[in-house]
Amino acid sequence: MISDVIVVLGPPGSGKGTQARALSCSLDVPSIGMGDLLRQEIADGTEIGRLIQAEVESGGAPDTALVMDVLNSRLRKISAGTVILEGFPRDLAQAEAFESVLKDLRAKILMVFLLVVPEEELVDRALRRYSCSGCSAIYSVGKRDTAVDGVCDVCRCTKFTRRSDDQSHIIRKRLMLDKKKASGLISFYEGSGMLMSMDGCAPVEEISRVMSRVIESKLSLL
Ligand SMILES: [Zn+2]
Repeated sequence: MISDVIVVLGPPGSGKGTQARALSCSLDVPSIGMGDLLRQEIADGTEIGRLIQAEVESGGAPDTALVMDVLNSRLRKISAGTVILEGFPRDLAQAEAFESVLKDLRAKILMVFLLVVPEEELVDRALRRYSCSGCSAIYSVGKRDTAVDGVCDVCRCTKFTRRSDDQSHIIRKRLMLDKKKASGLISFYEGSGMLMSMDGCAPVEEISRVMSRVIESKLSLL
């Protein structure tokens, strides 16, 4: 039964998935990526998955109640005491609904990390980003390219997908929407004293080190 949850928040491209995975390794606790969980539900073709897919296809965000259902049943299957949640909650409504789920589980949020990255950097990262069409491995033009030009390091596939430069306005629009959604959520956690902002432009290893140190000292006090 879980007792503590570590939440990793940040806008798209802030590196929250990377940090959640690094923290999961260094603390040896499971990490749940909300996006992966919902995609899995859709791929499995469950009833909830079909409802979520219909909502996503109509251009909306998945309903909070459905998201909570998926998360709740996943959390109940976890035997570890501590779990990392990444990419959730997305807004204040989800954060509030999550409080009652935690209450039912007799668990609590240990810490909320927020990766802060300036908008220009997020746009730059999004435009550099390309992914392997075969295995979805992610690369970054000029920053983290494939070892052999045009060949995926992981699966040797030679097909990649990348956004074109003229899509920067779409990226900005998405970032703006995300910011609007997240603002109430961030105030909510700030008010509870659980929020710790991290410089998302610092080297990945440095961010990981600080995050694990904070959590280890918190857990040792319990
Ligand atoms: Zn690949």
